Amino acid sequence: MTLAIETSCDDTSVAILEKHPNSAATLHFHAKITSDNRGTRGIDPIVAHESHQKNLAGLVNEALQSLPPTLSNTGIFVKDGTSSSTLRQKPDFVTATRGPGMRANLITGIDTAKGLAVAWQIPFLGVNHMQAHALTPRLVSALRRKSEIEHSEVDPSFPFLTLLVSGGNTMLVHSKGLCDHKILASTVDIAVGDMIDKAARDILPPATLASSPDVSYGPVLEQYAIPDPETTPPMRANEVPWSISLPMSNGASGNRDSLMRKYTFTGTGSMVRRIILKYPEMQDWERRLLARELMRTAFEHLASRAILWLKNTKQPLGDVSALVISGGVASNQYLMRITREMLDKNGYSSLPLVVPPMKYCTDNAAMIAWTGIEMWEAGLRSNLDAMAMREWSIDPDSQESVGILGATSWRRENEIPWKPLVNNT
Ligand code: AMP
Repeated sequence: MTLAIETSCDDTSVAILEKHPNSAATLHFHAKITSDNRGTRGIDPIVAHESHQKNLAGLVNEALQSLPPTLSNTGIFVKDGTSSSTLRQKPDFVTATRGPGMRANLITGIDTAKGLAVAWQIPFLGVNHMQAHALTPRLVSALRRKSEIEHSEVDPSFPFLTLLVSGGNTMLVHSKGLCDHKILASTVDIAVGDMIDKAARDILPPATLASSPDVSYGPVLEQYAIPDPETTPPMRANEVPWSISLPMSNGASGNRDSLMRKYTFTGTGSMVRRIILKYPEMQDWERRLLARELMRTAFEHLASRAILWLKNTKQPLGDVSALVISGGVASNQYLMRITREMLDKNGYSSLPLVVPPMKYCTDNAAMIAWTGIEMWEAGLRSNLDAMAMREWSIDPDSQESVGILGATSWRRENEIPWKPLVNNT
């Protein structure tokens, strides 16, 4: 059982997760507070950092109430808001996101986690945020597993493909093992979620834009474009004087191998802006069509790289067990539909498309806890001198990266936990 903390960006999240011997898992606690960025129309690092400082300790305090009660003398006494306290099971270790992310924000979580680990005299584990996103479907399968089932494999089994689509990342990842991930394709400019948020500001009428609870406009744009998936025509109508072309469909330089490693979205966003500037009087139905076309081209571009890699015979991907779509944009039903259709059309109708529930797709501490548990079971621990890492690619072959295990401060479970650097005289 671990207590886990996520603070890499603007979400402060805490979880307590327990994995049972048959691979079923119980989430005893999971909560998240997102900083309010509406005033800045985007994530403001200082506002987000202050939100972590303000909210993290309170969330941890609340989480402790959910630790299972115990009679063991290794338990910890937790006050319950009145004058009484209950003896509760102490987590086996504390996990925190170590990177990648905003440095100051990461430090808030890491330092709190180290403090808890030292106070409770248990190990600390600093994990990779992108690895956690990739492992999320395995967390979900463990949470769904009934405790009476004896089968002990977690699915999807390695290897599997993940399309990670969020406000900060767009990449296609081939996961062959817990720490063995290869980034097959990634964006050369902005993330797909970022492009959608910016384009939504151009497309959406002011009142619709204002209805969004935060600056992640994707859900509002989807609802505006496709109010009812049963009746909204998905495809482009011919009677409009504009069109959005698929990214890299014309004039893109480079050979096929290098093109299949790239995503690009700035061009799509610029095309939308040009159309809106050229036709400022555009009526509501046409704006909705524009929103749909924007999503269709972006999503076909996303799925195209997965198909290309599946078909590529020079670097076979082996028998991948699933295509996972994760990250905030994964909640978009139109993305699911387009990806499924493209897989089917290209002969991959038997490949499962796995989409974790939204609360585990966006940044959250449950996935950090799960990654901590998988790393713990692999015998890995972090030293207390583990520092926040602003950049930390999961792929050792990507530029200037050492991969997950190449980072400093890892130790094996049986190695000496902590050597003082100075003598206390
Ligand atoms: P994350 O970065 O994982 O927290 O996800 C947030 C991003 O996902 C933002 O860019 C959102 O606009 C985007 N997003 C969330 N839901 C949807 C949706 N239904 N359609 C498109 N984008 C979405």
